[in-house]
Amino acid sequence: MENDKARPPAPWTKEEADSVYHISRWGDGYFDINDEGHLCVRPHQNENGPRIDISEVLEEMKAQNIPLPIVVRFHDILRSHVKVINETFRDVIREAGYLGQYTGVYPIKVNQMREVVEEIVDAGAPYNFGLEAGSKPELLSVLAYNDNLDALTVLNGYKDEEYLRLALLGNKLGRKVIVVIEKFSELHKILKLSREMNVEPVIGLRAKMVVKGSGKWADSGGEKAKFGLTIAEILTAVQILKDEGFINSLKLFHFHIGSQVTDIRTVKEVIREGGRIFAKLVQLGAPLEYFDVGGGLGVDYDGSQSTSDSSMNYKLADYASDIVYILKEICDAEKVKHPNIVSESGRAITARHSCVITNVVDKIETSFTDYKTDIVAGDHTLVQNMRDLLETINEENAQEVYNDALDFKRECMNAFRLGIIKLEERARIETLFWKITKKISALLPTMEFIPENLYDIDQGIAPQYLCNFSIFQSAPDLWAIGQLLPIVPITRLNEKPEVLGTLVDITCDSDGKINKFIDINETRNLLPLHELRPDEDYHIGLFLTGAYQDVMGDLHNLFGRLNEVHVFCDDEDPTDFYIEEVIRGSSSESVLAAMQYNPEAMAYTMKKNIDRQIAQGKIMPREGVRLVDFYESCLKSYTYLKQ
Ligand SMILES: *Cc1c(COP(=O)(O)O)cnc(C)c1O
Repeated sequence: MENDKARPPAPWTKEEADSVYHISRWGDGYFDINDEGHLCVRPHQNENGPRIDISEVLEEMKAQNIPLPIVVRFHDILRSHVKVINETFRDVIREAGYLGQYTGVYPIKVNQMREVVEEIVDAGAPYNFGLEAGSKPELLSVLAYNDNLDALTVLNGYKDEEYLRLALLGNKLGRKVIVVIEKFSELHKILKLSREMNVEPVIGLRAKMVVKGSGKWADSGGEKAKFGLTIAEILTAVQILKDEGFINSLKLFHFHIGSQVTDIRTVKEVIREGGRIFAKLVQLGAPLEYFDVGGGLGVDYDGSQSTSDSSMNYKLADYASDIVYILKEICDAEKVKHPNIVSESGRAITARHSCVITNVVDKIETSFTDYKTDIVAGDHTLVQNMRDLLETINEENAQEVYNDALDFKRECMNAFRLGIIKLEERARIETLFWKITKKISALLPTMEFIPENLYDIDQGIAPQYLCNFSIFQSAPDLWAIGQLLPIVPITRLNEKPEVLGTLVDITCDSDGKINKFIDINETRNLLPLHELRPDEDYHIGLFLTGAYQDVMGDLHNLFGRLNEVHVFCDDEDPTDFYIEEVIRGSSSESVLAAMQYNPEAMAYTMKKNIDRQIAQGKIMPREGVRLVDFYESCLKSYTYLKQ
């Protein structure tokens, strides 16, 4: 500590910080570093516009007694991105001389939070932006939360009679509710119910495309996809609609090839396939008006602009251009009227607007190298062998030494099990092994060639920063499918980070760790972090968590939902922001109740147990009351670690 105090932190420029955390690459103009070295938000993607210093938001949270971890929502980013998507499509349509319009919908499964849906509907109102639902509860909310008669409501997912009745209820109210037929049997049901309820349905057909998506979700498309009709089924459906007198209800053609399409070539191919099907159906007498390209528009989580799973090799403008120009070309060639274009982008609209901020609770050193390893008379030869290895390490023999050290460590364990080695000797051997690993890892940066078995050597000895959150709650895709998220300290970005470490969460699960971080070419297995300072908080943010992550979290270890703040930009305010709303996360009693426990009964049982101890004179009455109060207050408080 003395040394640390004597040495001021090495200054670091914004550019240097950016070359490590790649904020300008994944931030899409919404994130930036200010002169104090704090991460901030530019809600309008404008360099000269307002800036919200995230650490100031955290200070305000602290003043209001709202503990970390928290989800911070920047509603202006959400609004901004709704606008960006609509304006981009409009610009391309104008430039291309395309004769249809863009009428997008937001699929609420990506983030169903009421405030998120309301904000999107409100920001999208000038564009008649609609909503998409995939289940009954989603449909219930979509019917109630977007009553713009000019906006579309697109319904996907498997549907029972109740779902279809709800849809037709929407039509009765004059809403443009479109039932997309995902599976052939739904067609007969909708026709039957329409007659019964005496309302004209609006019908869409979802096609199974041969083109598959690219990236993690490629299997949502392709011939083996779960949803959609084959061409034979589509032709039969059109014939049935004609025969039954419902052909004028057929308005929309739909496909969805999976989320996070990483390669723009996939988009081009699927529009070519879909465009042809569309045009030929119109020629067969289907009065289709909408061409719905589904979701799939990606987010460049790692900023690499590549086709890696967490990235994409195109921009929104390229996506819009490819859809509009290719569709125009096909329709012109087939002499078919340009349809209105619908897209169902969820990830691209919501991902950027929220982040998770956690505090580092501790730095865990994975090796204890302070144990004395000096020569002791009578030491086992294995100890001496290990000591000799440590002395001989150089760049040429590093691989060989490491292999020998692994061997000696194994032999040491065998000898220990046989009772040949003392506890102290085992401690010395393990300590020497760590010293060897450290020494080799320090040589790696200057080595010309790094042998494969040494690649990850530094991860084994790197410190772990213990972060107050649960990956299973706040970043489930990171654990489940290896999704990358940008992770950045909130402050001290004007100081060189001197520690390379991994992150671990507070769950008792060995999977609750992060050891893959974004980088430009490859991922990196250690994140540059700052040395912790006594009496100073160190905050780390996980960014781009607004799509799926926000709503898919689970109750692993009963941690539950996070405290949440909704931040709005205000140019007039000296801080450029105000907190509009605070939503309290889960208390222990609420997560317990969700698992069928009865917190009241639990408190009662505890009280009875304490009373019994009081009656036996083992606990003083005054102390007993305090203990009961303590248990009850724990039930009511936040599930995460207290600062
Ligand atoms: C999930 C889903 C979407 C959203 O996809 P994103 O890639 O998040 O934009 C759109 N349409 C359908 C049918 C979906 O199932």
